[in-house]
Amino acid sequence: MSTALNGKRRILIAEDDRVSRRVLEVFLTKWGYEVLLAENGKQALTILEGDSAPRLAVLDWMMPGMEGVQVCRRVREHADRPYIYILLLTARSQKEDMLAGLDSGADDYLTKPFDAQELRARLHVGERIVDLQDQLIDARDQLRFRATHDALTGVANRGVILDALRREWARQVREGGSFGIVLADLDHFKNVNDTRGHLCGDAVLQEAAHRMSASIRAYDTVGRYGGEEFLIVVPASDSLGTLGLAERIRLAIAATPVATKSGEVYVTASLGVAVSSNAQPFDPQTLLQLADEALYRAKDHGRNRSELGTPMEAPGAEPAQDAPVKSGSR
Ligand code: GH3
Ligand code: MG
Ligand code: MG
Ligand code: MG
Repeated sequence: MSTALNGKRRILIAEDDRVSRRVLEVFLTKWGYEVLLAENGKQALTILEGDSAPRLAVLDWMMPGMEGVQVCRRVREHADRPYIYILLLTARSQKEDMLAGLDSGADDYLTKPFDAQELRARLHVGERIVDLQDQLIDARDQLRFRATHDALTGVANRGVILDALRREWARQVREGGSFGIVLADLDHFKNVNDTRGHLCGDAVLQEAAHRMSASIRAYDTVGRYGGEEFLIVVPASDSLGTLGLAERIRLAIAATPVATKSGEVYVTASLGVAVSSNAQPFDPQTLLQLADEALYRAKDHGRNRSELGTPMEAPGAEPAQDAPVKSGSR
């Protein structure tokens, strides 16, 4: 953030001359800034590279040890950090100096002795730049999220979850090991829409997705495959591990009714599991087909259950990632 907790903008003054530093501090404090002080370039760099670096900095060019332009150059190496607006301050006034200063990554340049009102106006420009930068980053993050997540449930969208599946497959081809997928479909979901309305159905879908997300490990991905169907990609997992995850999801969904504006709704899911291992590798398309067939078997066998669609690995073939959980218990 460009402002401190007290709402004041934070700004760094780096100036080796004690009197000039004090003059700047008095002005900037009077103008409402929270001022951080550095007596030399090294101190300035430590502050600007720190976790709570201010977003505005006034750097004196000539300082012992490390000059303002060097600080500037170093700060600009961190392209991934929030942007810091840097104004260089110096007694030099020749045009070449100004170009060298701007070339080091400084945003603006003011010669000493500076005019206080001009400095103030130029810092306002800096504030606008920093704010615009923040707004741009916010907008970019929001766009990125919208392009990769399902608008209703907030889980990965179909494109992203299928990418995750293809990535896991590529990793297995490269490095071996095993991974699994779970295809989850809500049971008799049409009834929810028909009896409670589409908005209630949406709320149930959101909660079901939330419970799925809460049941998976950090490196698993859940995505909306379509309608009321979700796909979970489970890296580094064998049949027992993936079936265990499917059961955890199933139990989490069935455990308690979903509280909606039109009352409590009981909902269950059927899940199809498929695993690709060294011994039995399946490409994404085949794996999806096998999980889909298993899902249909789960529906056929009474719903609210998990079914495995690929052969179980031989005992001891690959270590299970999760404790074994019995499938299909009702
Ligand atoms: P089954 O147990 O066999 O899966 O029965 P089902 O009723 O769940 O299956 P069916 O495929 O007949 O119906 C799925 C329903 O899911 C129909 C569709 O309207 C509903 N649905 C799909 N996407 C959404 C959505 O975004 N919001 C809501 N409210 N409903 C959705
Ligand atoms: Mg100096
Ligand atoms: Mg369904
Ligand atoms: Mg369906």
